[in-house]
Amino acid sequence: MRRISCKRICRPKVTIKDIDAQRSSNSGRWMPVPDGLVCSGCTACVKICPTGAITLKNDRQLVFKYDACIACRACVDACAPGALVMGPGIDGATSRGALTHAFSINKLSPNLPEKPQTKDAVIPEKIKIFARSMHVREVDCGSCNACELEIAAISNPVYDAERFGIHIVASPRHADVLFVTGPVTRQMELALRKTDAATPTPKLIVAIGACACSGGLFGNTPVTGTGVDEFIGVDLYIPGCPPSPRAILRSILALRSGTI
Ligand code: SF4
Ligand code: SF4
Repeated sequence: MRRISCKRICRPKVTIKDIDAQRSSNSGRWMPVPDGLVCSGCTACVKICPTGAITLKNDRQLVFKYDACIACRACVDACAPGALVMGPGIDGATSRGALTHAFSINKLSPNLPEKPQTKDAVIPEKIKIFARSMHVREVDCGSCNACELEIAAISNPVYDAERFGIHIVASPRHADVLFVTGPVTRQMELALRKTDAATPTPKLIVAIGACACSGGLFGNTPVTGTGVDEFIGVDLYIPGCPPSPRAILRSILALRSGTI
């Protein structure tokens, strides 16, 4: 009889211990950042971006809306002077505005501005409730399913979301957090509103992926919306197309610890 090896299943030390580690390596999906003093303001990147994530403001600033960026790197390839590089992924934020970064042309900083380190984080009362445990229901509002795959991955042995008290549940009535993906199609609008109404308060709404944050590539059409916040309030925006499991977990842990 053929012997089945469970070596891979039982492989020790498979779980990533420090979810915050390796911030600059494979922790998130890479997104473009201006590099050096090379940008000439030619707007090649602005013209080619399929989601309108880049704009030129007053001929002086290149503004990146990372909530809309799908990390396709078309802007990097179109940038003849090589002023754009793919930098580490962007973490989640509690507002869309916080995902917008402006860079002065010809005075570009090589990397994203560092977040100020808050020693005594002020955690809102609503968030404090979820400090040790949250039950999550996922709502697919017209995503391509890549975001779903990454959300499913947070529960696998590598990311092990349960150790942080993050449990996936099957009903909004058992949930206190909604993960919403997709730009919200007209077909799913009512379902989203009903799921939101069925979730007991206090609750958190988390928009996951460029589609849910801003409409992304598929939003703002006659049959799709411009993201979850067009329909219901959002507490946390996690950009990326799709965001990695590590980026999802890190953003939620940062929200719980009051560091974003
Ligand atoms: S969506 Fe593509 S072209 Fe637009 S900013 Fe992101 S990587 Fe660049
Ligand atoms: S954000 Fe990207 S991966 Fe997620 S649903 Fe939209 S297109 Fe798919």
